[in-house]
Amino acid sequence: MRNITIIGAGHAGLQLGIGLLRQGHHVTIYSNRTADEIAKGKILSSQSMYNLAVTQEREQGLLFWDDSCPPIQGMHVRAGKEDAGVMIDFRTRMPEGQSVDQRVKIPHWMNEFELRGGTLRIQDVDIPLAEQLAEQSDLLLVATGKGELGQLFERDAARSQFAAPQRITALTYVHGMIPREDFGAVNINVNPGVGELVHFPGLTLSGPCDIINVESIPGGPMDRWSSVATPEEHLALTLELIRTYFPWEAHRFEHVRLTDDNGILAGGVTPTVRKPVGTLPSGRSVLGIGDTHVLNDPMTGQGSNNASKGATMLMQAIAAHGEQHFDRAWMQRVADANWESAQWSARLTNTMMAPPPHVLNILGTCQGSPKLAQQLAAGFNDPRTMASWYFDEQGAQRMIDACTEVLAEV
Ligand SMILES: Cc1cc2nc3c(=O)[nH]c(=O)nc-3n(C[C@H](O)[C@H](O)[C@H](O)COP(=O)(O)OP(=O)(O)OC[C@H]3O[C@@H](n4cnc5c(N)ncnc54)[C@H](O)[C@@H]3O)c2cc1C
Repeated sequence: MRNITIIGAGHAGLQLGIGLLRQGHHVTIYSNRTADEIAKGKILSSQSMYNLAVTQEREQGLLFWDDSCPPIQGMHVRAGKEDAGVMIDFRTRMPEGQSVDQRVKIPHWMNEFELRGGTLRIQDVDIPLAEQLAEQSDLLLVATGKGELGQLFERDAARSQFAAPQRITALTYVHGMIPREDFGAVNINVNPGVGELVHFPGLTLSGPCDIINVESIPGGPMDRWSSVATPEEHLALTLELIRTYFPWEAHRFEHVRLTDDNGILAGGVTPTVRKPVGTLPSGRSVLGIGDTHVLNDPMTGQGSNNASKGATMLMQAIAAHGEQHFDRAWMQRVADANWESAQWSARLTNTMMAPPPHVLNILGTCQGSPKLAQQLAAGFNDPRTMASWYFDEQGAQRMIDACTEVLAEV
């Protein structure tokens, strides 16, 4: 049995912590907020989770919302301009995913962690305390997301494509949306040069809801969030932008209302990759996981998926390490394995910030090729599957040819 400490009780820290309890380890998690504060606080994310990550959580006995959370069963992509209408339009089914409000999921997991024998401490960990924890533990993990302790981890300039937010994301949780007639979908709407509207069904404190992401290009016509003062103004601006820039979707939003006054959020994320093995002033090594390692823009919904997949991978690595010392070389190997997977979600997300011509070609071809549309949706679920085709012109053309040949044969 090892003595493992995790700083940060978010998606990555809790999924890993609960999994390590199952392996018989002594696990302590530090959180700077209580479960009650999280449940009563503002929304934290839109947390759309695709099938691969959700399945791992289910297998780990951590998915408590299968009966109450409306499923995400596919993807519907549209691109257009307000004056020209929709130019690209395709939809495809996906294996089921779901989005459970982190104000529901995280407090439930905190409780579950304690019920299963974990020690949860409510304290904001600073560097001196991190030193103490590193000394007392066989392994210290930092899962503080965007929190300040992330400064222990140097920005990896070679792997970080941007130095500033590429979108201002405004999240709004609503009831009263007119449902789709076919299936619960991640609806992705692109207005080139202006931004995106992404929305999908989810589960919040007051039951099933719809979760709206308006992604505004900084300095563009939708970047008006700094003047919003109240939840009512936030909803009003969301609806105005949808009517103006995504009119083809507007009818579904006609009767929506906020789920609660805390069901809103607006801000920007600078997509950042950090060097995941940090050094405390004493020279001790700590391993960063989840957003502490790879922080993406929310647009493609990859961060929670990464946190979840990374936690699963780390659980396996810790089990395989037996009673050996968790030294810096081990931490680096584990982090490299995480990057092997997470780099593709970062590349997918960064590519969507300003799609190059070959990606526009892929999106345009998806409209007439269900096979290609399925490949794209599979890539959101597991971006590793895109490695050989999505990121360069030749690969894209090969995939387009293969998928359209299949279409011709049908
Ligand atoms: C607007 C928005 C929309 C998003 N939408 C999606 C989506 O649709 N799909 C998706 O997959 N991902 C999405 N994400 C990303 C996703 O929410 C994150 O990637 C995921 O929550 C990261 O998990 P984590 O455990 O690494 O960090 P977090 O969930 O941020 O958890 C970190 C925890 O550590 C605590 N903490 C911080 N500092 C300290 C400290 N010093 N001491 C103790 N505790 C500390 C924090 O309070 C927090 O509870 C979105 C993110 C944003 C901002």
